[in-house]
Amino acid sequence: MPDLLINPDLRFNSYGTYLRRRFGCRVSKVNVDGGFTCPNRDGTRGTGGCIYCDNASFSPGGTVAEIPIEIQMAEGMAYHRRRLGSEKFIVYFQKFTNTYAPVERLRDLYARALAHPDVIGISVGTRPDSLSDEALDLLADLAKRHYVCIELGLQSMDDKILQQIGRGHTLTEYLEAVARIEGRGIELCTHLIYGFPGETRDGFLRTADMMAGLPVNSVKIHQLHAVKGTRLAELYHQGDFVPITHQEYVATACDFLEILPPRIAIQRLYGSAPLTIRVAPTWNLKNNQMWFSIVNELKRRGTWQGCRLTDSCLKAGNL
Ligand code: SF4
Repeated sequence: MPDLLINPDLRFNSYGTYLRRRFGCRVSKVNVDGGFTCPNRDGTRGTGGCIYCDNASFSPGGTVAEIPIEIQMAEGMAYHRRRLGSEKFIVYFQKFTNTYAPVERLRDLYARALAHPDVIGISVGTRPDSLSDEALDLLADLAKRHYVCIELGLQSMDDKILQQIGRGHTLTEYLEAVARIEGRGIELCTHLIYGFPGETRDGFLRTADMMAGLPVNSVKIHQLHAVKGTRLAELYHQGDFVPITHQEYVATACDFLEILPPRIAIQRLYGSAPLTIRVAPTWNLKNNQMWFSIVNELKRRGTWQGCRLTDSCLKAGNL
């Protein structure tokens, strides 16, 4: 593995490794619920939300909007200190669309998160169509003094799939948002999902090529999974959503990593949902088993992140 960015034990550039390299200590993300909604649920872009959306499936318990974020942060930080020995924290505004509010409210929430002496920055999950100039200016200003990451949900680069899953935005809107973020001192993470009905492995792998050409600092990928109460769960019960197998997911995730430039850190490699709401797929693997199934497959193949990139791609600044 020639690239210094790659964690030799994992065979990819993990976000945890990146944070330790950058900040010199263990840094954990702490989720908070800032009480936002989403334009794809409140009627601005749509009402039903994305077909797989149930925020309970991707938020740890305890982050409810009625609890002041300071208390949510304190609980999250105590947990990570105890469990991982983390010393510094990034407050992650995760639930729904965390730039979708008047800028005064955003300023208040972000400032309160950054006021804690052990918080080195914020990460803000949002949609490509929900980044106003005012919100972007605010984040760019904060980025002069703190770590600031925008996590943009793209999920698929195929407009047909975006339409089919009710995302309410297009690839073009994602690319426009990326262009507006570039050069503002803000890190950019892109969220991707593999396993949509009708999606092919080749189609998903083209996303890695696209990421290579964009100013993306990190990615999160996970398998499409259905949880109770979502339209995707209905499709599953009707036989119209056939989840990919664990083997297919691991193989595709490894293929993806092999063509992803080492400069792009990996924030997430799989998705999980509480057993009480999980519908499909049911791979019956614990989180660390999911993680290590991908790490072990890279080891078995003798490959690593970016190993299949051409020299010209690496010379183009994709180290
Ligand atoms: S954009 Fe996010 S919060 Fe909004 S409906 Fe889709 S998955 Fe849910």
